[in-house]
Amino acid sequence: MDGNQLNDIEKIVDADRAHVWHHLIQHKPFETGAPRIIVEGKGMRVWDQHGKEHLDAVSGGVWTVNVGYGRERIANAVRDQLIKLNYFAGTAGSIPGAQFSERLISKMPGMSRVYYVNSGSEANEKAFKMVRQISHKRYGGKKHKILYRDRDYHGSTLATMSAGGQDERNAQYGPFAPGFVRVPHCLEYRAQWDLSGEEYGIAAANAIEEVILAEGPDTVGALCLEPVTAGGGVITPPEGYWPRVQEICRKYDILLHIDEVVCGVGRTGTWFGYQHYGVEPDFVTMAKGVASGYAAIACCVTNERVFEMFKENVEDPLDYFRDISTFGGCTAGPAAALENMAIIEEENLLENTAQMGDYMFDQLSALADKHAVIGHVRGKGLFLGAELVADRDSRDPVDEKQAQAVVADCMQQGVIIGVTNRSIPGFNNTLCFSPALISTKDDIDEIVSAVDNALGKVFG
Ligand code: PLP
Repeated sequence: MDGNQLNDIEKIVDADRAHVWHHLIQHKPFETGAPRIIVEGKGMRVWDQHGKEHLDAVSGGVWTVNVGYGRERIANAVRDQLIKLNYFAGTAGSIPGAQFSERLISKMPGMSRVYYVNSGSEANEKAFKMVRQISHKRYGGKKHKILYRDRDYHGSTLATMSAGGQDERNAQYGPFAPGFVRVPHCLEYRAQWDLSGEEYGIAAANAIEEVILAEGPDTVGALCLEPVTAGGGVITPPEGYWPRVQEICRKYDILLHIDEVVCGVGRTGTWFGYQHYGVEPDFVTMAKGVASGYAAIACCVTNERVFEMFKENVEDPLDYFRDISTFGGCTAGPAAALENMAIIEEENLLENTAQMGDYMFDQLSALADKHAVIGHVRGKGLFLGAELVADRDSRDPVDEKQAQAVVADCMQQGVIIGVTNRSIPGFNNTLCFSPALISTKDDIDEIVSAVDNALGKVFG
C-alpha cells in the first residue's frame, strides 16, 4: 500500500472503531487498540491495514473461502449476471438458480430439490419449518420434535440456537423454542462410555435411540447432525456411528437432516461430509463453501420424498411450503456458486483436499510427538483440529488464555489459525485449521511451523 492508501486506511480504522459492531468480539480493547481490517486477499493470503501479509489457515476465519481469494472468474460471472438480472423473488426461477440446482443435485445422489436462502442459520430454519409442517400435515401435530447433538451448532437465530449444543454460546439468550431435544456427542476422546472404536460409535448412536424412546418415537420428527462437528471442537464421528444412526432414523421414521454448512462443497475431500459415511439424508443444508464467500448463498436441499409431501393436496390452500426468503431470489449467489463448483472440478480440488488433508494430519501428529500439550489431532480433509491438554493422562484442558496466546503468536508470525470451544470445561481449546482447498505442501509446512514455534513459546 502507498502513503495515500495508508492515510485513507487510518480514516477507515477510525470509522470502523466508531461505528462497526464486529461479530463475536468484545469491543473494549478497541478503545485503545485498533480493530483489525482485512484489506485484500489473493490465493491463500490476506493483507491487513498495515500491509502485513498473512497466510490464512482458516479460509476467511470461519471455513468459508474454499477456493481461495481473488478469483476473477467468479467476480466476472457475478458481474455479468448482475447486469443481466440481479434479482427476482424466488417465487419465479432464474437461469443461474436452475443451472446451479442441476449441477448441485448431480453431486448428491438421492437428493432432488434446492431451496435458496442466504445463511446457514436460515437454511437450517427452513428444514426445521418443513419438519414442523410435515408434523401438522401428516401426524396431527405429533412427530414435531427435532433432536440435535451436544457440541453441534446450527446457527445464530433463536430457533437454530434452540438446536444448539454449545451451552457457552446459548448462555444469556434464552428462553429458547420448545420441541428441540439434545442427544449426547460422539467424541471418543472425551468418552462417555468405556468402549472404543466401532463399539464406541455404536454406543454413541444407541444413545440417540435412548433419547427417542424416552421422548416417545411418535413425538420425534427429525434428527439434525453435523457430519463432522465444526465449532464444537472438530469432532469426527467414530467408526460405526453413522450406519447405526441411519438405521435408527429408519426404524422410527425420523427424518435425517445433515448440516453441511461447514463440511459442504469440498471441505472434507468429498463434495459433502456425509458422503464419507454412506448416509442417505432427507435434508442437507449448506452455506459457507457454496460460493466461497463471493456472494451470500445458502441452500436447504431435500430429497423427493420430502418435496412430495408439500404438494399432496392441491385443493387445500395451506398445503404447500408457505415460506419465502427475499434475498433467496438474488442471482449473484447461484452465479458465483456455479463458478466455484467449476473451479473445484477443473483444479481437482477434492483430490487435493484429501491429499493435503492427510499430509496436514500427519504433520500435526508429528507435532504432537514433539509437544505433549497436543492431546488429540482429529478431522477430515482440510478440516482439522488439535486439542490442547494440560496433561495427557487426565486430559484436563489447558488454560484458555494459553490457547489464545498460541493463536496470537501465530498471527504475529503472519499465520491466521483458529481456536474452538473456549470457556467450556472439558472441551476447551482445540486449535482449528481449515486452509483453502488449494493448499500446497509449502502452505501447510508454513502453518505447522508457525504452530510449532508458538507452542514452543507458550508452553516451553
Ligand atoms: N451450521 C454450522 C455447522 C455452522 O458452523 C454455522 C456457522 O458457523 C451455521 C450453521 C450458521 O451459518 P450462518 O452463520 O451462515 O448463519
